[in-house]
Amino acid sequence: MRHLVWFRTDLRVADNPALYEAMAGGARVAAIYIDCPGQWRRHGNAPIQRDFIARHLSALSERLALLGVSLTVLEADTFAEVPALLAQWVAQQGIDALYANREIGINERRRDRAVQQALAIPCRVFNGDCVVDHGSLTTRGGDMFKVFTPFSRAWLARVRGSGYRLLPVPAAQGAPVPAGTTMLEGERRCSAAWPAGEAAAGQRLAAFCAARLDDYGERRDYPAEAATSSLSPYLALGVLSPNQCLAAMEAELGQLPFSRGERGFSWLNELIWREFYRHLLVVFPRLSMHRAFKPETEALQWSRDDELFRAWCEGRTGYPIIDAAMRCLHQSGWMHNRLRMLVASFLTKDLHIDWRRGEAWFMSRLIDGELAANNGGWQWAAGTGADAAPYFRVFNPTTQSERFDPDGDFLRRWLPELAAVPAGAIHAPHDWLDRHCPGHGYPPPVVDHARARRHAIAMFDALKDRE
Ligand code: FAD
Repeated sequence: MRHLVWFRTDLRVADNPALYEAMAGGARVAAIYIDCPGQWRRHGNAPIQRDFIARHLSALSERLALLGVSLTVLEADTFAEVPALLAQWVAQQGIDALYANREIGINERRRDRAVQQALAIPCRVFNGDCVVDHGSLTTRGGDMFKVFTPFSRAWLARVRGSGYRLLPVPAAQGAPVPAGTTMLEGERRCSAAWPAGEAAAGQRLAAFCAARLDDYGERRDYPAEAATSSLSPYLALGVLSPNQCLAAMEAELGQLPFSRGERGFSWLNELIWREFYRHLLVVFPRLSMHRAFKPETEALQWSRDDELFRAWCEGRTGYPIIDAAMRCLHQSGWMHNRLRMLVASFLTKDLHIDWRRGEAWFMSRLIDGELAANNGGWQWAAGTGADAAPYFRVFNPTTQSERFDPDGDFLRRWLPELAAVPAGAIHAPHDWLDRHCPGHGYPPPVVDHARARRHAIAMFDALKDRE
């Protein structure tokens, strides 16, 4: 028997259900990854993430080689060509069954259905990206939860009752084989600031749990500090699994925290947010199709001001916290969660620009770009998503900056033109700059926040008038 494992967003050998099951029965196992550069461009993913994937593939290839499994990278321009390519490969190699972990985007699901139809062999698909499988948590009426809190209660009850499944690295199927080459063609941007491979991800996870779990709840909103795990790029590509995160927490704490106030609960809660958005994407395919979760918000009258959009993208809005965050994204490919919330709120509620433009911009820049979390975060901030918060809750960029970067350390890191501004003036620096640094060049605020907020609320009120 010959089994083929098709790696996608699960670039790891540990806790990988598809690999584990494929290797469990004594069959001879080979592995492939199919690069689709045209699909990549269509999805608008970031060149830095492409580089990160290429580096992980090389690490994965080496780890698989030690298990006696050879990884081949094939290329198909778009998903449409994948079924024929796979059918040919399977026939050439004499494969008896295909193993893969599920991907949840609508295009990925369509591709997988087409693959199943094109292949005359069994295709076995597993849950490798969530602790609790998609679709298995429902309300009493059998529907998916539409708000987070009841979902998280159900998730916690399930994990408390049934635990979670952590699979070991499979036993080698023989002597090591040479590691295959894993080059990816196309546009890439250097991701070297992020160490690649499962071992690096595991070290980061262990170091975070040992040093930061305890104060995560208190410090996680301060972007100048390294108080969060920075594991999102690894979770997004499946280099790390959420089960591994739970296991590391449990090893550190002795047990998992199941209620608010227990050590580590705040971090577990973020992992549950991750699963919430993934479960939503499976049940509501429209979220993969640039559509609002709340259909009535499709009627919102967004601004088409391209100049304001460019100012936001380039970090030239005159609001330091927004500009520092956007320049950080541009230069590093990553952004802190509090800042993602602030810049998303600013684009939609201060500039009144469609959340879809911000979502796409993030995707084209983020090393951790991931459809479910990105779409969920954007729709949450825009007031169009699965969220219990009222639409009139609009972040004030200046008071948020004062609160979460009180000394201005984060601002100074990314805005060299504010290097000399004292902490008391840095959150709204224009008066100070005009007095002390004439000709400073830092732009004036592109909008008046109070007026922009009123306009945003009026936009949403207008929806009610239509009902
Ligand atoms: P930690 O605070 O250490 O959290 C641990 C893990 O939990 C994260 O690595 C991530 O996998 C998950 N997580 C944390 N917060 C969230 C959240 N709010 N929603 C879903 N999962 C979460 N996350 C992405 O992985 N990819 C994205 O493309 C993405 N886009 C976002 C866009 C917007 C507008 C917003 C508001 C949030 C977005 N997030 C996204 C969620 C969150 O900002 C990042 O996951 C987080 O900042 C990553 O940092 P960390 O790894 O240090 O997280």
